[in-house]
Amino acid sequence: MATCQHCHNKWTWKQTMKTTTTLNTAYTCPYCGKKQYATKKSRTQFYFLTLIPLIALLLNLFHNIPVWFIFSWLILGGAVVLSLFPAVLKLTNKEEFFF
Ligand SMILES: [Zn+2]
Repeated sequence: MATCQHCHNKWTWKQTMKTTTTLNTAYTCPYCGKKQYATKKSRTQFYFLTLIPLIALLLNLFHNIPVWFIFSWLILGGAVVLSLFPAVLKLTNKEEFFF
């Protein structure tokens, strides 16, 4: 679970979703108001998570998969990614860059 590295309060699923639905990489802690950043590792994990729903689209290029299956996979995969996101997210006080 996402835990603020400043005040050590755990963010709830709802708080995490609300805080992270921004294009800004700095997330403001709902408890202490300090800026938090996703760690490099958790960001990488999240990119892999988002690949899960996309695998279905990729498979569809090579196999004849029914459209209903692709759609339910996308919806299910999207739901899984969304529900796992706060569990995967780890916070840090300093922004970590990829490069
Ligand atoms: Zn905090």
